[in-house]
Amino acid sequence: MPDTQPNTPLAALLADIRAITGDRGLLTEASDTAAYAEDWRKLYQGRTPAVIRPASTAELAAVVAACARAGVALVPQGGNTSMVAGATPSADGSELVLSLARMNQIRLVDPVDLTLTVEAGCTLKAAQDAAAEAGCLLPLSISSEGTAQIGGVLATNAGGNNTVRYGNARDLVLGLEVVLPDGQVWNGLRRLRKDNTGYCLRQLFVGSEGTLGVITAAVLKLVPRPVETVVALCAVGSAQAALDLFTRFNRHDPAAIQAFEYMSGAGMQFVLRHIPGATLPCAASGHYALVELATPRANAGLREALEDVLATAMEDELVIDAVIAESEAQRAALWKLREEHAEAQKREGASVKNDVSVPVSRVPELLARAAVAGEALIAGMRMVPFGHMGDGNIHLNFAQPPDMDAAVFLAQDHDIMDMVGAIVRDLDGSFSAEHGVGRLKPYMMPEWRGGAELDTMRRIKQALDPRGLMNPGKVLP
Ligand SMILES: Cc1cc2nc3c(=O)[nH]c(=O)nc-3n(C[C@H](O)[C@H](O)[C@H](O)COP(=O)(O)OP(=O)(O)OC[C@H]3O[C@@H](n4cnc5c(N)ncnc54)[C@H](O)[C@@H]3O)c2cc1C
Repeated sequence: MPDTQPNTPLAALLADIRAITGDRGLLTEASDTAAYAEDWRKLYQGRTPAVIRPASTAELAAVVAACARAGVALVPQGGNTSMVAGATPSADGSELVLSLARMNQIRLVDPVDLTLTVEAGCTLKAAQDAAAEAGCLLPLSISSEGTAQIGGVLATNAGGNNTVRYGNARDLVLGLEVVLPDGQVWNGLRRLRKDNTGYCLRQLFVGSEGTLGVITAAVLKLVPRPVETVVALCAVGSAQAALDLFTRFNRHDPAAIQAFEYMSGAGMQFVLRHIPGATLPCAASGHYALVELATPRANAGLREALEDVLATAMEDELVIDAVIAESEAQRAALWKLREEHAEAQKREGASVKNDVSVPVSRVPELLARAAVAGEALIAGMRMVPFGHMGDGNIHLNFAQPPDMDAAVFLAQDHDIMDMVGAIVRDLDGSFSAEHGVGRLKPYMMPEWRGGAELDTMRRIKQALDPRGLMNPGKVLP
C-alpha cells in the first residue's frame, strides 16, 4: 500500500481530490473501501488507498486531471458485477477506484425521439423503469440489472436476454459523454439517428472496459413498449432440436422473438435442487428452450402464432412437451428457472465458467464436442451449458465432479478453459461473448486477437492513454 502519511505525494493528491469532491466524494477507511476492491466472483482481492465518488461530470473531470498530473492510475467502477474482474484494482494498492455511483440522474426521456439521456451511475433497472414510465422499453435486460450501471453496461458492451432482437448495448447507443484520460470532457450526447461526421468515437468507448476513458452519460435508444408478451418453456430432445425450433420461430416472424434461451437437463436439475420454490411445469428432458415473443401491436395474434409453431414442432417430434405461461406470475416463474442457473451452480459447488460464442448454427456441435472433451479431461465433471442460443452465446460452464475436492477441481480451470477454447476456435467463435476480457482473460488476447488486430488496439490505447493510467492490466496483455 502506498504511503498515505501526511506530506507524501499520495496524501497531497487525496487532499486535492477532497477539495474537488468534498468529504462525501472520497472514502479512505479500509472498512469503506473493501467492497470496491473485490470482484463479484471473489476471484481477486485488490487493495486501494481510496474510492473517489464524484457527483458531477465537472468533478469527475477535475479528479481525472489531478490523477493524470500525479501519474496515479484509476479504475472506473460501476455496479462491480463484472464476471472478469474488470473493475477490481491491483493488489499492490497503487490504483484509486473511481466510482460512478453518485452520478445517477435520468436527464431526459423523450418518447417522440425514443431516447433516454442518462448518467453513467444510474442502474440499468432504474433506467428501464424511467423508460417504462414514459410508455417505452429500454430493450436491454441482464440478470444483474438491479446493480449493474449504465456506464458499466456500455463499457462492457453487455448482451443479455434480448440481444437476439435488439442487439448488444452497442446497438442502443446514440450518444456518449466521456472524460478522457487527461481530464478533457468529450460531450457527444447527440440524439441523432444519422450522423456521419468522421470516426465514430462513441463505439470506440463502448466495450473498452474503462481502459480508454470514463463514460459519464449516454443517450440510449428506446422502443415502443410491447403490449403483448408470450412465454413458453419447451422440453426438447437435443440441442439440435432447440436450434431447429429457433429456426422455425425465426422463419415464422423474426421480429417477434424477444428471447430464445437454452438450458441443459443438468442445469435444470441444479435449479430444482437448490432454488426454493422452483418447479418444473413440463416433462423432464436433457434439453430445454425458453422462448419469449413480444409485439407492440394490439391483437397481433401472438399467442396463436406461438401455439401454431409449437403444435407443428410437437407433431414433428422436435418438441417433447411445452408449457405456455398463462399469467405474469407464471411468466416470472418460467424465467426464474433460467435466471437462477448461475446461483444454482454456485450452490452445487465449484464451477469453471466459459462465456463463449459461435455461429448460431454451430451451437449443437459446440455442446456435443465439449461434452466428450470434458469427460476425457476430468471424468465425472458435469457440463452445465445455458444461455442465449439465439445469439450463439452459450455460458459453457463445468461443475466439479460431486466427489472431487473443490480446490483440486479449480486448480485445473485453465485446462478446462483451454479445452473449451480449442473447440470454440475450431468453430470460428469467440472466447468472450458478452462478459469482456477484464483482468481474467488478457492472456488470451495474443492467441485470439494477435497480429494487426491487437496491434491496432495497442495503438489506440497509446494514443488516448499514453501513460497507461486508465484501468491498467485490463483487456490488453
Ligand atoms: C448475476 C449476473 C448476471 C449477469 N448477466 C449478464 C448478461 O446476461 N449479459 C452480460 O453482458 N453481462 C452479464 N453479467 C456481467 C455484468 O453484469 C455486466 O458486464 C455489466 O455490464 C457490468 O456492469 P457494472 O456496472 O457492474 O460494471 P463493473 O463491473 O463495475 O465494471 C465493468 C467494466 O466496465 C468498466 N466501467 C464501469 N463503469 C464505467 C464507466 N462509467 N466508464 C468507463 N468504464 C466503466 C470497469 O472499469 C470494468 O472494466 C452478469 C453478471 C452477474 C453478476
